[in-house]
Amino acid sequence: MNLLIMGPPGAGKGTQAERMVKEMQITHISTGDMFRAAIANGTEMGMKAKEYMDKGALVPDEVVIGMVKDRLQEDDCKEGFLLDGFPRTVEQAVALDETLKDLNINLDAVINIEVPLDKLMARLTGRRVCKSCGASYHVIFNPPAEEGKCNSCGGELYQRDDDNEQSVGTRLNAYMEKTQPLIDYYKEKGILKPINGDQEIDKVLEEVLAAVK
Ligand code: ADP
Ligand code: AMP
Repeated sequence: MNLLIMGPPGAGKGTQAERMVKEMQITHISTGDMFRAAIANGTEMGMKAKEYMDKGALVPDEVVIGMVKDRLQEDDCKEGFLLDGFPRTVEQAVALDETLKDLNINLDAVINIEVPLDKLMARLTGRRVCKSCGASYHVIFNPPAEEGKCNSCGGELYQRDDDNEQSVGTRLNAYMEKTQPLIDYYKEKGILKPINGDQEIDKVLEEVLAAVK
């Protein structure tokens, strides 16, 4: 199954994606994770992306589109994939359609996680992420069993550079201006699955799995 997960920053895309790919045995492709890995590896692309990411701005379309095009052609995508954090602009969505057409691949469903925008600041500023496996926690809403340590791999938890009030504000504006129009784009294609993301993590997962069955 080839899926896409959408929603504003902090909606719970990464949290659900981590659980969905385990359950469905598909490959998780998070463009945010790919950029953070490039930064950690000190690549030229990573350094360029970091300038935009730290401010909360979107990385230019041509950089993201090229990266995803290459990624979708790797072997582990053949059994199915879950795109997370891409596309974020109409230009990216059109480029994705072209790429999938070239590769003879269909998108089966687009999961749209809906959360009231006024709840996102608290979710993002309290987020903690595992340095080793990328699992997402929250100091109040989803704390790890042992403070600062990942439940699944024991890795160290850290706070992302862009999870501060100023960057979050910019990211929410970028979402409303550039990404929200994609809801109608996928609604018109008849593959949009709206999910209530304002409930417990396990309940959200149940709704998601039922929607893609
Ligand atoms: P995204 O990938 O959409 O930016 P994350 O999955 O990283 O979002 O979640 C953002 C923050 O919100 C994390 O701290 C996560 O633990 C928390 N979170 C995720 N889902 C829920 C939920 N259903 N209820 C409360 N907090 C949640
Ligand atoms: P995320 O991990 O999805 O919250 O993404 C973190 C940051 O990476 C974003 O705020 C952007 O700066 C950048 N980014 C990730 N995916 C994209 C994308 N599809 N288009 C543009 N920028 C992106």
